[in-house]
Amino acid sequence: MPSSDLALFHVLRMRRLLPDAVLQERLQAATTRGVPLEEVLRVRRDLELDVLTQALEVRARQGRRCGACGETTYLQPNQTVTATPCERCGGALMARSSGRLGRPPGPPPPR
Ligand SMILES: [Zn+2]
Repeated sequence: MPSSDLALFHVLRMRRLLPDAVLQERLQAATTRGVPLEEVLRVRRDLELDVLTQALEVRARQGRRCGACGETTYLQPNQTVTATPCERCGGALMARSSGRLGRPPGPPPPR
């Protein structure tokens, strides 16, 4: 199951946007059919479109890019960027940039 589906599942569950049973069923359907969870929710009209869009924005904040292949892996509530490998290639994920680009990679400054 892609981390994107699982992350969206957690967002919807924590915000109680859908009953657990429905969420589980939709996640199952997405996995079985090999389509993104948001696609299943859209087709079934489980959520208002703007509610779904908002949930996707929340999920996007959990996305971390792989330093090796560039694929985005989504962190689950119990995962940290340092302990989570890229779901595609197993490479190291990059910490989310704070908006300030250009900080050279290197060891963290000494305390
Ligand atoms: Zn990768």
